[in-house]
Amino acid sequence: MAILTQEGKIQEKWSIKTNILDEGSHIVPDIIDSIQHKFEKQGLDKEDFLEIGMGAPGAIDRKAGTVIGAYNLNWKELQEVKKAFEKEIGLPFFIDNDANVAALGEQWVGAVENNPDVIFVTLGTGVGGGVVAEGNLIHGAGGAGGELGHVTVDFENPITCTCGKKGCLETVASATGIVNLTRRYAEEYAGDAQLKKIIDDGQDVSAKDVFDLAKEGDDLALIVYKNFCHYLGTACANFACTRNPSTIVIGGGVSACRGRLLTERCSKSF
Ligand SMILES: [Zn+2]
Repeated sequence: MAILTQEGKIQEKWSIKTNILDEGSHIVPDIIDSIQHKFEKQGLDKEDFLEIGMGAPGAIDRKAGTVIGAYNLNWKELQEVKKAFEKEIGLPFFIDNDANVAALGEQWVGAVENNPDVIFVTLGTGVGGGVVAEGNLIHGAGGAGGELGHVTVDFENPITCTCGKKGCLETVASATGIVNLTRRYAEEYAGDAQLKKIIDDGQDVSAKDVFDLAKEGDDLALIVYKNFCHYLGTACANFACTRNPSTIVIGGGVSACRGRLLTERCSKSF
């Protein structure tokens, strides 16, 4: 959570623990409590603010201010988020998909210096995306515009994605996707790379382990890394042709693992 000025300057930010117990029913009341507590502590009230904006995973109805199917929050049923905030705090409330608001943030005050054409890709547990075109966030006819994790990039060995399609970017470029690739290439690999030994031992590997090994020059880890870059590079090249953005911003935990090497390798793939 953060308090921002109208220019997008963060005055203060804080976080609370997300309690997903009881079908995620504590999440919204906990956030509201935390805001009210902040107001009390700092002598603020709703007159000091214009509105509240929120990003959430799952399927968002922006007009109704509801969320459904945010499984990592345990929100399987419809959540009346806007109604709860407006009733308890009394400020206008706006909600959108979390990757979309991240794209807007990058475009507004982040990596892009307010350029109106930006694409944001987030590589985490899944792959999220947001597209800002001519200054507007793209939502599309059904609200699923900018779901960049579900463009098809793998035609040779397609894995079924959580969305039901096969060969999505998410199946080869998320943290889980990198583990998928590791298993695939470990099977065909006949050398003596450390990563191969770890897999053959039946030990669990994470995307970070694979990238750390790639950094050390591990043969198999580099094969995985090269293919990950190929898929991500293919997707980004296609996004670039579709929207001609000034910048493609890559964020999320997986990108934090690699930093500059990620951008260098991916751009070399094309
Ligand atoms: Zn998918």
